[in-house]
Amino acid sequence: MAEFSIIERYFNRQQQSDVDLGVGDDSALLTPPLNHQLVICTDTLVAGRHFPLDTSAHAIGWKSVAVNLSDIAAMGAKPHSILLALSLAQIDHDWLKDFSQGLYDCCDQFGVRLIGGDTTQSPQLTITVTALGWIETGQAVTRAQAQVDDLIVVSGSIGDAAFALQHLGHPLQQRLDYPTPRCELGAMLKGLASSMIDVSDGLAQDLGHILDASKVGAKINLNQLPINPALRDLSENQQWKYALAGGDDYELCFTISMQNYDKLLQLQPNVITTIIGKVTQQCGIAFEKDGLDHSLQLQGYQHFA
Ligand code: ADP
Ligand code: MG
Repeated sequence: MAEFSIIERYFNRQQQSDVDLGVGDDSALLTPPLNHQLVICTDTLVAGRHFPLDTSAHAIGWKSVAVNLSDIAAMGAKPHSILLALSLAQIDHDWLKDFSQGLYDCCDQFGVRLIGGDTTQSPQLTITVTALGWIETGQAVTRAQAQVDDLIVVSGSIGDAAFALQHLGHPLQQRLDYPTPRCELGAMLKGLASSMIDVSDGLAQDLGHILDASKVGAKINLNQLPINPALRDLSENQQWKYALAGGDDYELCFTISMQNYDKLLQLQPNVITTIIGKVTQQCGIAFEKDGLDHSLQLQGYQHFA
């Protein structure tokens, strides 16, 4: 079966009204809303590197979209559409059916359309999704505006995915395979958060990017890390390792003033948020436990380590 019939069969669902031209021509066409900026990002998943080789095709489809919507959410923006560059080792119709279903399930849940892509053959299954979104001009939440004394807050629970990766078959594997991009929370934080990032490579490392970009530091209270009850039997050190150095959670980490955090809570976001510390003047991340300073050595995920 040729490339074109794969596209036709699996990746060319009904056009949506706010896409001027979608799959089928040389490029897609969109009309940006007035006074908005285009927000655009891309992320690649490589089989065996970004997901275990036996991950279901449906989960791979879901996750390849979800990780990108998470990046759009982390700017405070609303996702609009995606492009899919798919490199397949061979044509497997069962796999393609489940993969495209997982991809469209994630798209449908977050109101996103597939507007184009590319399909090629390559020895290694590789999926690159590019996501597009819109935000009112000048409203994007970057990494660079964290202010001393802001609260540091994270959504959901952290460390679940890293734990699941080492305990395949555990119920928490759902969190590894089907991450939930925090699209609603991200959009609510526009105009409220001073900085934001999504947690993909480990909380300490990702928070570190905010601190570097904003030229500030952080004090994290280890007692307040939102660790899943399923990890409670592990030693404290192991829990902290998963929570701070584990990757793949796709929760949001943001800094916010106390007043704006109160405003956020009044909006009743659909996910729990937890204050884990404060922005400080002193560069780097310091930890405290039971009110006392506590030293920890951590490493996040390094792609070229
Ligand atoms: P071109 O050769 O001009 O790059 P292609 O043959 O690669 O065009 O693609 C034909 C059309 O199908 C284009 O609109 C492209 O965006 C779309 N497309 C190709 N692969 C995919 C895919 N995996 N998912 C969605 N759309 C795709
Ligand atoms: Mg092409």
